[in-house]
Amino acid sequence: MARKEFKAESKRLLEMMINSIYSQKEIFIRELISNASDAIDKMYYKALTDDSISFEQESYYIKVSTDKENRLLTISDTGIGMTKEEMESNLGTIAKSGSLAFKKETEIKDGHDIIGQFGVGFYSSFMVADNVTVISRASGTDEAYKWESDGTDGYTIIPFEKDSVGTEIIIKIQENTEDENFDEYLDESRLKTIIKKYSDFIRYPIKMDVTVQ
Ligand code: ADP
Ligand code: MG
Repeated sequence: MARKEFKAESKRLLEMMINSIYSQKEIFIRELISNASDAIDKMYYKALTDDSISFEQESYYIKVSTDKENRLLTISDTGIGMTKEEMESNLGTIAKSGSLAFKKETEIKDGHDIIGQFGVGFYSSFMVADNVTVISRASGTDEAYKWESDGTDGYTIIPFEKDSVGTEIIIKIQENTEDENFDEYLDESRLKTIIKKYSDFIRYPIKMDVTVQ
């Protein structure tokens, strides 16, 4: 399986993100949830024009789960999914990100909240990840693929199994360092707080396994 290189801009932007916007790493959650929601929207619009697809509200949701032992955070959706080609072109280069440009230059005040002005997109997950795995099956296909990357050395993509249409993003959360603690991204109640903060506009249910004690 051949490893493919990221575009140079991707590496530069990742470095910039990692070095300059430490304090707001949690925004990767906003980005992944909004992508999941966009993917469900696309499914909804497809269902409107395709009689063979019925859109039942309860079948469309976003799920957030953690595996503390293995340091995994998973965000999955029952949205439209991606073909192999879509994974290659949409995840393979940050410059492809539709919202990479500043939203509105006038919104930037004293360089404050710079990250909030960027739609940094999927790639922001690498701010907290050792590696990211994306398993996806596109609507209308029965093939699934697994895309994997550490964010800097390119990515691999292989055929994979997935029972249902949609996308699963699995983030291997970094180990804590002397300066930084990444455990919060594995803590369900902390995640819940972050999700609430950023998901006001999400119209689909966001499910979590709630563990009481
Ligand atoms: P943007 O959302 O601004 O387009 P992103 O970097 O967040 O940029 O995502 C890039 C692209 O990757 C999306 O436009 C979409 O095509 C694809 N993508 C990302 N996450 C998902 C997902 N959960 N389901 C389907 N497609 C996705
Ligand atoms: Mg996005």
